[in-house]
Amino acid sequence: MQENSFILDWCKWIPAKVNIHVWRMEMDRVPTAKALKKRNVDVSDTSCPLCHSEDESADHIFGACFVASTVWNAISSWCKIPNIIVFSLKDLLTTNLHLKDSDKKKAAVHGIIFIACWSLWRARNNIRFLNSPVRIEGIVSEIKALGFL
Ligand SMILES: [Zn+2]
Repeated sequence: MQENSFILDWCKWIPAKVNIHVWRMEMDRVPTAKALKKRNVDVSDTSCPLCHSEDESADHIFGACFVASTVWNAISSWCKIPNIIVFSLKDLLTTNLHLKDSDKKKAAVHGIIFIACWSLWRARNNIRFLNSPVRIEGIVSEIKALGFL
């Protein structure tokens, strides 16, 4: 990891693939349509496959997209924390630092947000590559199931 990394520590209780995904987000290496286009990859459809209303960027998929904001709302009420409003990925991944809760709870919220990012990305891939429809409740219950571990 780079020294200026804003995630202080990987969450040890969640699967490595989830940590790796978040690391990619942090390094701006999530292969969204916008990121691929920047690397001169021919992308025929750059719109977000989840909402089709905006171009697909990491900020959008994990932040502004209505699928993401619905998921963040659900997580906020599930974890009983103030609403997660995502202005940037950095904000999102450091949400835990701004909570006025016990360290244990902060660590749990941190991990749950990591899992949610991974679940959102999986939902995006499922619709992009397998054409399977997005079920927001499905994403949320997957996050809860993983979060309980
Ligand atoms: Zn979207």
